[in-house]
Amino acid sequence: MGSGRQTQGYTGRSGFIPAVGPAPSRGAHIVVLMGRFPAERREELVAVLKEARGCTRCALATGRTQVVFGAGNADAELMFVGEAPGFHEDEQGIPFVGRAGQLLEQLLAENGMAREDVFIANVLMCRPPGNRDPEAGEIATCQPYLMAKIELIEPSVICTLGNFATKLLSGSRAGITRVHGQPRLRELGGRVVRLYPLFHPAAALRTPRVKEQLREDFARLPALLAEGAPAQPEEELVGATGGPSRTDAGRADPEPARAEPADQLGFFG
Ligand code: URA
Repeated sequence: MGSGRQTQGYTGRSGFIPAVGPAPSRGAHIVVLMGRFPAERREELVAVLKEARGCTRCALATGRTQVVFGAGNADAELMFVGEAPGFHEDEQGIPFVGRAGQLLEQLLAENGMAREDVFIANVLMCRPPGNRDPEAGEIATCQPYLMAKIELIEPSVICTLGNFATKLLSGSRAGITRVHGQPRLRELGGRVVRLYPLFHPAAALRTPRVKEQLREDFARLPALLAEGAPAQPEEELVGATGGPSRTDAGRADPEPARAEPADQLGFFG
């Protein structure tokens, strides 16, 4: 990749953020997270996207129309992770554009959000034949790409949609019926995030009771987001040249990292 980032053998954030100089003196026990500017993270995300587009690491490459990398705000506080592209996603190259996606958009709107505010990805980037379940080998092969997205977008909250994303990102075998609507802290992509498992919208479309539950869980999302980014482990201290502090300076950025329309990171481009 152009940026030198390799998703294969991916080493995580500490592998590429230089720790330079002492942390600003705000007290010995205050965690100071000095990440990179959003524009820099976005540039790396585009490099990962370019690599992903040509991915042939598993057999799904032979049957896909195109790689569905993920789409949305590359600097989103909220990220959704679904299962895998279906027919429409494979055709359009954008996740959740079918009926399940319409429900997702509706639930976002009911809670004052839009697709453009969030980033949406999947466990797999390529459509399994006949929309069959993802296989373990495919999930493992695609996982470095997902982790790279999480690391570079730096969301505070990740909603896993359904069993596959929930089990993968929680590292637990507990199924969605047991854990939906229960946020927990989890270290992913080199940072602590709030993991919030939700029923998959496709399951909600099939079963009215699941839809009701999904809607109830979704309604607690704004309050979860309002809690802000979770505290980060102290070893994340990085010096002043590392970029703006996400905890102390919010998302101050001289060049906002909104996705460009012609890019797959944007919508319907
Ligand atoms: N279901 C998913 O899990 N992902 C999509 O992108 C579409 C449907």
